[in-house]
Amino acid sequence: MATAEKVIKPDYGSRRKHFIFNSDHDRLRESIGSFVEKELAPNADEWENTTFPDWVFTRMGELGFLGLSYPEEYGGQGGDYPCNLVLAEEITKSDSGGLAMGVAVHTDMATPPVFLFGSEEQKQRYLVPAIKGEKISSLGITEPDAGSDVAGIKTRAVRDGDDWVINGSKTYITNGLRADFIVLVAKTDPDAGYDGFTLFLVDMDRPGVIREKKLEKLGMHASDTALLAFQDVRVPADAILGQEGKGFYHIMWELQGERLIGAAGCVAGAQRCFDRTLQYATERQAFGRQIGKFQAIRHKFAEMATKIESARQLTYTTAWRFQNGDYPVREISMAKLYASRIAVEVADECIQIHGGAGYMKEYGVERVWRDMRLNRIGAGTDEIMLDVIGRSYGL
Ligand SMILES: Cc1cc2nc3c(=O)[nH]c(=O)nc-3n(C[C@H](O)[C@H](O)[C@H](O)COP(=O)(O)OP(=O)(O)OC[C@H]3O[C@@H](n4cnc5c(N)ncnc54)[C@H](O)[C@@H]3O)c2cc1C
Repeated sequence: MATAEKVIKPDYGSRRKHFIFNSDHDRLRESIGSFVEKELAPNADEWENTTFPDWVFTRMGELGFLGLSYPEEYGGQGGDYPCNLVLAEEITKSDSGGLAMGVAVHTDMATPPVFLFGSEEQKQRYLVPAIKGEKISSLGITEPDAGSDVAGIKTRAVRDGDDWVINGSKTYITNGLRADFIVLVAKTDPDAGYDGFTLFLVDMDRPGVIREKKLEKLGMHASDTALLAFQDVRVPADAILGQEGKGFYHIMWELQGERLIGAAGCVAGAQRCFDRTLQYATERQAFGRQIGKFQAIRHKFAEMATKIESARQLTYTTAWRFQNGDYPVREISMAKLYASRIAVEVADECIQIHGGAGYMKEYGVERVWRDMRLNRIGAGTDEIMLDVIGRSYGL
C-alpha cells in the first residue's frame, strides 16, 4: 500500500519482478542459477578452448532443464513460456555465450518445430530423448550461398519411390559437430515459390551426411559451428517434419521463438556485464576517487541502464503476448533488433569503463562483447529485422 514515506522515498532497492513471472519462476530461477554457477561457470574459461562437453546436455536433461515448457507426457516440466526466458537469463551466469547458444539452439530453436509440427512417432523418437539430453539437436537453414534470403537455399530433396534423397550444404550450424539430428530446410519443389520448401528430420549418422569442418569464429568459442554437406542422403517419407511444401512457413514460425529467446539472452547478458562493471567502477580509483563518481562514467551507467530496461520491458511484454497466443512478429523483430544492439553497445561501454583491463581476457568483458556481437547477425540480421518491421507498416 502507498504510504507517505513510500511515495516520498524513491524505491531504488526493490527487487524488480515483471508481472509475467510468479513464485514458481522464482524457484526455477534459483535452481537453474545455482546449477549454472556451481557446475558450468567454473569451466567457462576451459571451454573457450575446447568447446563445452556433451555432458552438459545429459546433466541438464537429468535436472529437467531441457524441457521446461514441454508437456510432462514427453518428459517435460509442463511449464509456461516464461520458464524458457528464465533459462535463457540464468544461463548467462555461466559467462559463456557459446554454451548459452548451444543450449538455446537445442531448447528453443531445433526442438520447438518437432513439438509443434512432429508426428507422435517423431516426438517419441526425437523430442523425448532431446528433453532427456540423450539426443542433441541442430537446425539447418543457412547455406554458403543463402542466409538472410532463406528462399534462396539450394539444398534439394527429391522424391525417389518412398524415400527422399537430399543433396546440398549447410553452414554456420551450431551444434553441427556434435548433433544427433538436424531439422533441415530443403527445397522440394523449385517451381512452387514459398510453397516449395519442406522440413526434414535427418539423423546425422545417415550415410552421406558429412561434418566437413569446424569453423573458427570471433566469439562464442565454447560452441561448435560446422559446415555440413549432404551427399545423396536417403531418408524415408516419414522424415518429413510438418507438411510437405510448408517448410518455409514452418521455419518462419520457428524463427520467432529463436529471436525472442535471443532477445532475452541479450538483455540478461547486458545486465550481467553492467553489474560486473558497476562493481569495478566502485573499486577502481583514478585522480583520488572512484571512477564511478566521475560524471562522465556515471552517465554511461545511466545510459546503459536505460537501454537495458527498455529492452527488457519490450522483450517481456512481447513474450507475454506470444505466450497468450498472439503472433507479434513486428514486436518480436523489434525486441530482437533492439536487445542485440544495446547488448553490444553495453559490452562496448563496459570495456571502456574498465580501461586497459577491459581489453584483457582476465576480466571477461571482452568475451561478452565478442559473444554478443553475433546477435546482430544470427537469427536474422539487424537489416532483416528493420525490413520486417518496416514492411509490417505496408511499405
Ligand atoms: C556463430 C553463428 C552461428 C549460427 N548458427 C546457425 C545455425 O545453427 N543454423 C543456421 O541455419 N544458421 C546459423 N547461423 C547463420 C545466421 O543465421 C546467418 O549468418 C544470418 O542469417 C545471416 O546470413 P548470411 O551470413 O548469409 O548473411 P547475408 O545474408 O549474406 O547478409 C550479408 C549482409 O547483407 C545484408 N542483407 C542481406 N539481405 C538484405 C536485405 N534484403 N536488405 C538489407 N540488407 C540485407 C545483411 O543484413 C548482412 O549485413 C549462424 C551464424 C553464426 C555466425
